[in-house]
Amino acid sequence: MKHPPHIAVIGAGLAGLACATALQRAGLTVNVFDKSRGAGGRMSTRRGDGWQCDHGAQYFTARDAAFRAEVQHWCDAGAAAPWTPRLVSLPHDLPAAAPVEGDVQRFVGTPRMTAPAALLAGGLSVATSTTIEHLRSTPEGWQLRSVERGWLPVEFAGIVLAIPAPQAAVLLQQPAAELAAVASRTAMRGCWAAMLNFDAPVALPFDAAFVQRGPLRWIARDSSKPGRAGTETWLLHASAEWSEDHLEDDAGQVAQWLVDAFAELGGPLPRAQTAHRWRYANSQPAGQDGSVWHADLRIGLCGDWLHGGNIEGAWLSGRHLAAQVLASFTSAS
Ligand code: FAD
Repeated sequence: MKHPPHIAVIGAGLAGLACATALQRAGLTVNVFDKSRGAGGRMSTRRGDGWQCDHGAQYFTARDAAFRAEVQHWCDAGAAAPWTPRLVSLPHDLPAAAPVEGDVQRFVGTPRMTAPAALLAGGLSVATSTTIEHLRSTPEGWQLRSVERGWLPVEFAGIVLAIPAPQAAVLLQQPAAELAAVASRTAMRGCWAAMLNFDAPVALPFDAAFVQRGPLRWIARDSSKPGRAGTETWLLHASAEWSEDHLEDDAGQVAQWLVDAFAELGGPLPRAQTAHRWRYANSQPAGQDGSVWHADLRIGLCGDWLHGGNIEGAWLSGRHLAAQVLASFTSAS
């Protein structure tokens, strides 16, 4: 490649960061854009006055050999560590908790879930608070317009969309209807999360539970994760069905309903509570294609919704797309 192609990656979640890292390592020039204030996407941590809580993804597994090596790198850098909670399941038809043991190794970002993304973003050019709202085809490639800065003064040879499927469908509708149709095929469901703060450790005989009772599907003592600072914090996730039914409800009311459900499991009343709505939490169903690359348009799609629907899948999807982009530009040069 005489002149390294300049690629825009929209979305600094794990898929976009994995793709951007692989492209940059191969010699391409890469700019990453994200609408949020930091990198990480759904690997997210809320920080308050004296507390913190992972309110999106809870942990990740590493089954693929390449991803296991990446996670080892994060662990070596202090950005991740194994998490071994006292884990139980609370089925709807049994009064007692059933222990979940030795099923799989779980990892978390340290000291918070955003740490692996921050590690990757540190080696890249990432523009945060930049919401891409329009893509325009030019003779040289593509131009992007952001809500915050208008048209960006760069022409890109190719574009990677590493954002949830419904958001990709909207962005692609005008410039690439064919790809918009691909993204439109994947629906994504919401998830309400409640973060609970306590003055003292909660006396429950477990740190995390898969729940099949009432609105709840997962609860976890965030403070049991390695490297966490601050006061005792618990995280509650509602089921996709319940969340979808209450997507437009008031956050304060939702937090109270989830606190009430936690009390029915034996949890005490918190000192404070707050709820967060994830509009696009998980894909339904998650694809297994890896990624999509349109060689003529030079637009690619990656993300968890194209590969397994979880953190490991998002990373693999980003890498999968990077290989397609590189093959395409190498054959064209
Ligand atoms: P995202 O992380 O969503 O990244 C997309 C990025 O694009 C975001 O940062 C967003 O701000 C940005 N963006 C979107 N539109 C634009 C735009 N127009 N312009 C600029 N930027 C834009 N996975 C697990 O493995 N284990 C779990 O325990 C787990 N639990 C979960 C619980 C919840 C509540 C949620 C929400 C997710 C959970 N997941 C879990 C899923 C996991 O978080 C995702 O699979 C993974 O983080 C997706 O990464 P991604 O890069 O594909 O997308």
